[in-house]
Amino acid sequence: MKKLFLLGLVVAAMFCLNGISAAAASDTVSLGKYPVQVVAKKNTELKDEQGNVIKTVAKGDKLLLQAIKGKAGVISYSSKSAFIPLTDVHYIELVDGAKTITYDEVAAKLKLVSSMYPSVTKLQEIGKSVEGKSLYALKVGAGKKEVLMDASFHGREHMTTNVLMEMIDTYVKAYVNGTKIEKYDVKKILSEVSIVFVPMVNPDGVTLAQGGKVKTSMTKLKAMNNNSTNFNRWKANINGVDLNRQFNVNWHLIKTTKPSFKEYKGKAPNTEPEALAIKRLIDRGNHLAYVSYHSSGLIIYWSQTKTKFSRTKKLVRGVSNITGYKLMPVTKKNEPIAASEDYFTKVKDRPAMTVEIAPFAGEASVPLKRWHTVWKQNKTVGLYVANEARNW
Ligand SMILES: [Zn+2]
Repeated sequence: MKKLFLLGLVVAAMFCLNGISAAAASDTVSLGKYPVQVVAKKNTELKDEQGNVIKTVAKGDKLLLQAIKGKAGVISYSSKSAFIPLTDVHYIELVDGAKTITYDEVAAKLKLVSSMYPSVTKLQEIGKSVEGKSLYALKVGAGKKEVLMDASFHGREHMTTNVLMEMIDTYVKAYVNGTKIEKYDVKKILSEVSIVFVPMVNPDGVTLAQGGKVKTSMTKLKAMNNNSTNFNRWKANINGVDLNRQFNVNWHLIKTTKPSFKEYKGKAPNTEPEALAIKRLIDRGNHLAYVSYHSSGLIIYWSQTKTKFSRTKKLVRGVSNITGYKLMPVTKKNEPIAASEDYFTKVKDRPAMTVEIAPFAGEASVPLKRWHTVWKQNKTVGLYVANEARNW
């Protein structure tokens, strides 16, 4: 018994070294304030903690998931916890983009969707934030080819997280139902080209900008915020480093010298774990294109690739046509600002763009009232990019 237990510990420790730990997988993840309505795909069994069948759930029955435990969904039944296999249910709505989405919600919903659809999605921990929050990438699709999309590099720009979480919600649903989104056959496209989503690159900065709890002292944060308590304008990570000035492309040309709520480049490129996680994801990956979501201004920045420039031009024009956002003049040599887009273009020589959603919002988050327009403009962007990449 003891030997088995020890062996178990060793195995668990081995798994911990490799992405999401086996121990974490069996932990209960509460959906807390964001319970998810699900519908049974087929007749299935609801069980109690000991594994005894409580009742049969009929196909089409609706349940409200309160938590995830391993591969099971947890619901409340006669004021006790009851369990149902997550692969036996579909969600009705994963997220509501019209509301603020916190880091905790992102983490819980990504775990949920990846447990519900293991053949269509793959969740990976790509690093940890300064304050120890896991940084997640979710691959959607079965395609061997991949494109990369990320959001919330900048704390206050968290509506971009809503854009990617809604894409995940909508695309996965269309994939498993075999339905189209506008002219896009989702299953056909994502079976050839998968989309790797990183919905929140800077969870500490987002949490601060949203008025949530952070570990770093307010005194320290205020000092980096010109002594203001207005953290809604915060762009940097929790160390006061601008993650989108951390990449080694003309980094030395940036003049900023001290930690701040925005634009400080750090002591060296990639000193911050969040920027390093994206650098490594780009370096190790084989992504055919890269879309980095920011706010605001209704514009698209893009860089000059050395080869196949016509492909890049076509792709950015396509995204401009879909969103209605203005295409900026192509970024030329010496202009780059050490952003992730510049880095992707430099090391991969493939199409990359920075999409700035919503009308100019100044030094603040985009107001939630903008959501419906933002979503309408961006709903098909991921599918368009993946569909283009099918032919590359
Ligand atoms: Zn930004």
